[in-house]
Amino acid sequence: MLAKFMTQKQLESFFKYLKKGNLLAGPVREGGILNFTEIDNINEIELTNEIPLHSFKRFLLPVKEVLETSEQKSPCTCLRRQVPLYKRGNATKMALVGVTAPDLKAITILNHVFEKDPFYQNRLKNTIIIGYGEFPCEYKGLFAVRYEENILEHIQFDIFIVKETAPRGNMECKIFTGSDDGQKVLDKFGYRNYENAQFAGLVPEEGKDKSMIRIRKAMENLSPESGVFKELGEKCIECGRCSIICPLCFCFCLKDGQPPLTPPFGKLPPIRRLPAELEGAGRAGSCKGGETIMCRTATTCFYSEFSEVAGGHKFLKNPAERIFNWYEHKFARMPDEFSAPGCVSCGRCARVCPVGINIREVIGKIMES
Ligand code: SF4
Ligand code: SF4
Repeated sequence: MLAKFMTQKQLESFFKYLKKGNLLAGPVREGGILNFTEIDNINEIELTNEIPLHSFKRFLLPVKEVLETSEQKSPCTCLRRQVPLYKRGNATKMALVGVTAPDLKAITILNHVFEKDPFYQNRLKNTIIIGYGEFPCEYKGLFAVRYEENILEHIQFDIFIVKETAPRGNMECKIFTGSDDGQKVLDKFGYRNYENAQFAGLVPEEGKDKSMIRIRKAMENLSPESGVFKELGEKCIECGRCSIICPLCFCFCLKDGQPPLTPPFGKLPPIRRLPAELEGAGRAGSCKGGETIMCRTATTCFYSEFSEVAGGHKFLKNPAERIFNWYEHKFARMPDEFSAPGCVSCGRCARVCPVGINIREVIGKIMES
């Protein structure tokens, strides 16, 4: 059955409806640059196939998040007597609108990676994800360069808006739902002319992405000592911008908000400072009792201390090993584990690299070597 159309006016009312009771975020142009950000005024939303520089990532994977708050009974040195206070189910209700097809693909992969993470899943449960596309859409990337409407069966979303141009040039949209939650939201809003797109898994019927398989094979013969990675190791300044901006980079570190209970032997694992409001939140507690926190903070494998353990040993010793690890994770380990690469070919990493490292060119060299 062909879906009927939602008019521009209905779409605006729908966004206003979503803004009530939800943190609304979507693509907004700021100083000429499209970014995915919180929306104050729904007229700011720019629905487009263009990839925003910053993605949805910080909404689903916050830069910092408290995993556990505990009250330590006083006086005590035994962690087992801590009382967990964190209550699941208190995530902010969000609506992410205008998410492009490549970014929805990234969300679908993250949903698999964080399948068993209650914090991520809780946030996802409290978030309505609304995609947008003008099909066919072309991306000059490493993998699928052209998306057709049938991509909807292989990406996860609650609602998807497909732009159509009505005869008099007005914008009209075909509406698809991808989940019960999406249907419920539309039903409550009072719009029922949608079509359901059933998620059929990440991998299409014709099988795994052939480019991914070829790159995976080429990676087998490479190491940090290979020419391409030696060269990259000399060039990369390890600023971490590529991985911070990448929708599919999700490294983090954990830190307890209290001093060590035992004297430090050798060097303690170096962990980046927590933001001021969280730093030392548990110190008052210490062994005398009080509140302590465990915090998950985003980081990147490009930082030299990322792979350092107590005693000072680093598993990734130099820039060439670190950049090789990044490519190996994306193009060898993730394809093996999730049948999908850790890259949706959005090109953000190349846009932000201060020394001009371009992932497309690197993949070209990997394939040649
Ligand atoms: S192109 Fe770069 S930023 Fe985009 S998904 Fe791939 S690795 Fe990440
Ligand atoms: S953005 Fe460029 S220089 Fe910075 S860590 Fe990534 S590859 Fe290295």
